[in-house]
Amino acid sequence: MFGEKSNLRRYQCFVCGLQFDNDQFDEFSAHIVDNHEEGRDYVLCPLNRCKAPIRDVRAHFKARHGSEKLPQAGMMKATIWRDVSPQGKTKKKTKFREGWHESNKMQKNFYYRSGWEKIVYECLDSWNEVVAYDVEPFKIPYIHNGECHDYIPDLFVAFLDGHKEIWEIKPTSQTSLKKNQDKWFSARKACEAREWEFVVVTEQVMEKLKKKVKNQYLEDDAYSDDDGGE
Ligand SMILES: [Zn+2]
Ligand SMILES: [Zn+2]
Repeated sequence: MFGEKSNLRRYQCFVCGLQFDNDQFDEFSAHIVDNHEEGRDYVLCPLNRCKAPIRDVRAHFKARHGSEKLPQAGMMKATIWRDVSPQGKTKKKTKFREGWHESNKMQKNFYYRSGWEKIVYECLDSWNEVVAYDVEPFKIPYIHNGECHDYIPDLFVAFLDGHKEIWEIKPTSQTSLKKNQDKWFSARKACEAREWEFVVVTEQVMEKLKKKVKNQYLEDDAYSDDDGGE
């Protein structure tokens, strides 16, 4: 690959590494949109004539639309969550942090794709009201742009009092994306039918969760009321 200086440019999926030939840009784009997650894995180029799935708007504009002005609004990067360093400083640079979380409660390892997912797993392990949880528990079919897809929620959580919840971990900046709205519409219906609760775990919800878990042994009764919904 290195020896031959070919002008055969290949497109490589920046999420999974799948390769496409230089005349397969449409297949490459469709692959990313169909298989990966908008907001987390990619964002769409905001230029209507382009709309390519990309990871970083600024870099893409520099490479492909040098004469265009950078958009002032919208997601500039396929960002997961900004990971917070131990000192509490928020790093500007997006990290695609991944790894395995060892769950004592479940006697099982769970894969996390962001520092925030890891924090949530840790909370679930420590929270005494949670008897069990599972990661990416099942698929829920949903319709997006007239086509049927599968949505796999992040977590299934079972509580001591018997009630059950489905959790989706998402930064607030991604909650209004049409694709997410479509997914969650179906998820809410599926949950309603089973009398489960569907919860989008945003930064705000996560802060509450962390506090709740941290204080759970301080005042037993004060935290028995559910204020962590929404
Ligand atoms: Zn891919
Ligand atoms: Zn573009």
